[in-house]
Parts: sequence; C-alpha cells; structure tokens
Amino acid sequence: MILVIAEQQNNKLTRASWETITAAQQMPGALPIKVAVMGAQAEGAAAELAGADVSEVLRVENPALDPYTADGFVEALQALVSRQAPTYVLLSNTYRTRDFAPRVAARLDRALIPDCVGIKTVDQKPTFVRLLFQGRLAADVVPEGDPPYFVTFQITAFRADAVVRRAPAAPVTRIEVPIDTAAIRQRPEEPFKGAKQGVDLTQAERIVSVGRGIKAREHMDLAQKLATVLGAELGASRPICDAGWAPMELQIGSSGQTVAPKLYFALGISGAIQHVIGMKSARTIVAVNKDPDAPIFKVANFGIVGDLFEIVPAVIAELTG
Ligand code: FAD
Repeated sequence: MILVIAEQQNNKLTRASWETITAAQQMPGALPIKVAVMGAQAEGAAAELAGADVSEVLRVENPALDPYTADGFVEALQALVSRQAPTYVLLSNTYRTRDFAPRVAARLDRALIPDCVGIKTVDQKPTFVRLLFQGRLAADVVPEGDPPYFVTFQITAFRADAVVRRAPAAPVTRIEVPIDTAAIRQRPEEPFKGAKQGVDLTQAERIVSVGRGIKAREHMDLAQKLATVLGAELGASRPICDAGWAPMELQIGSSGQTVAPKLYFALGISGAIQHVIGMKSARTIVAVNKDPDAPIFKVANFGIVGDLFEIVPAVIAELTG
C-alpha cells in the first residue's frame, strides 16, 4: 500500500498535496493508495481528498496537532505508519515535511529519499529520480532495506491537475492518534509571513519573469506593464533580486522559488541551470532574448530572438489593441 501524507494549512489543502497524489497514482505495481491528512480537525480536507481516485482517506486527528509542531507530527506519523504498515510513504518536500518526516524515518530506521523529481519503472518497481549538483546530473535511486520507504517530491515535479478523480467519493476513516502533549518541546509563534504583499508565486497561473537583459531598475515598469496586461505576477532571476530591483521573494530558481505556472514569460533571462530548475515545469514557456544561443531557448516552447525593448511594447500593443 502507498500512503500519501497530504498537508493542510489554515484548514486548506496545499496544491502540493494533489501533486503527491498524482505521483502515487503514477507509481508502478498497482498498489492501493491511501491518503492521510493530519490536524486537530481534518474533516473538510479529508472530504476534499476523497474526490481523488484512492482506496481510502484517513483523517488523523488530535487536538495537539494544531498549531503545527515537529514533535506532534512525528508522534502522529509514527503511530499512523505503524498501524497502516505501508510499503511507501509519499510526501511533498515542504518546509514542514522536511521538519518531521526524516525524524520518523530515522526513528523507524527506514530509508528516506528526499526531493525527487520523477518516478521510473524498472522491473515493475519504482526507481526515484533526484537531481544532483544543482540539476546537472539526475540520479536513479532505489531504496534498500525493509519498508516503509519514505519518499518526498519536489514541489511542481508532478501536476496537481493530473490527479485521477473518482465518483462516488472514497471512504473516509477517522483515526485518533495518541500524542503526549508533555513531550512536545516546541512552542510555535505566529507563522512567518515572508512576502509583504503576500505574493505566492508557487500558486501563480502566469508569471512574467525578468532577467539582467532588462538593464536598469527603471525598466522594471515595462515588465510590470506586460504582467498587468497578462494578469500575471512578476518574477525575477537572482541578479535582479540581488540588485534590489525586485524583492527577494520574487526570485525563481534553485535558491529561490520553484514555480509551475501555466504561462512563464522570460524576459532577458539567459537560462542558467540554477534558474531553469525553478521554472522548467511551467506548462508554456515564452522566452525573449537577443542571443539566439541563449540556453533558455532549450526549455522554451516559444522563443523570440530579439531586443526585449522592442518586443515587449509590441506584445503589449497587440494584447491591448
Ligand atoms: P544573465 O545570465 O546575465 O543573462 C541576461 C540575458 O539577457 C542574456 O542571455 C542576454 O542575451 C539577454 N539580453 C541582454 N539584453 C537583452 C535585450 N535587450 N533583449 C533581450 N535579451 C537581452 N539564478 C537565478 O535566477 N535563480 C536562482 O535561484 C539562482 N541560484 C543560484 C545558486 C547558486 C549556488 C549559484 C552559483 C547561482 C545561482 N543563480 C541563480 C545565478 C545563475 O547562475 C545565473 O547567474 C543567473 O540566473 C543569471 O541571471 P540572468 O539570466 O538574469 O542574467
């Protein structure tokens, strides 16, 4: 059995939860899939998850699971895994799962393969693909030892909208897990809010992303104009954020955000591997660059070779004309 751990924040399921269900549905071997969601209250999230084509949804509840603490979630996941005895435990690689999943794997003395970007089938069994050296190499990894095997997936590695659904809904089972509140050592404060304006690029459907080809801070307005016309959020390469022309939270890439919008418009971005790793899962990539050999064109669906200061005004005129 495959056990997917979904994640809810403020009583809302994260998009990454659906991505992990897609990953589970693409695992070879036709193993049954169960999805668990943990929290003080998980009824709403569980009902939503029951729309996915899985054999069962588990509402894992305990008042001590809210607010989130690593110790609470370690206790809950360990109890759940011991009871359910899955072969694989799949999670998305988020700040939260990085906090608790490795500890459960270590406590149980089981393998954990983090931050995978794909699944291959070898001899009817899954092999997990991980990127190494800033994405320059891809390694095929097979867990050894006894199950359960813990695997986490990079956000956007799988498509949330590719989840196979079912009707009627999957059965939902409520599971109470014991948690010793005295053993919880963390005392959480208000959650950190990184972005002042609350822009969450990981959820954006369209992004206009700016690179060093924009040349000067005052030209950022041109990119903003295109973003407004397209109903898009603004993103940027690292040099733009380092220069302070865009806030750090707009940085896309290996040391910034990983995004998967429907449309990614790259303006004057060369396509360094550290940038591409953060946007290659976009459904449609349009790149404007005056260098026909720029590596960004290798991942672009549509490439426009030319000066962005001529092309962007022409695109805006076309869209608003
Ligand atoms: P450049 O590489 O300088 O490219 C500018 C492009 O604009 C060129 O291709 C040029 O042909 C084009 N251009 C110039 N003028 C015009 C014009 N008028 N019209 C059209 N095109 C024009 N980078 C990130 O983006 N995100 C990260 O998270 C990140 N993390 C990193 C982590 C590490 C450990 C390291 C070492 C580097 C990281 N980098 C990251 C930096 C990365 O290696 C590149 O240096 C960076 O992505 C380059 O940004 P750029 O494409 O905007 O600039």
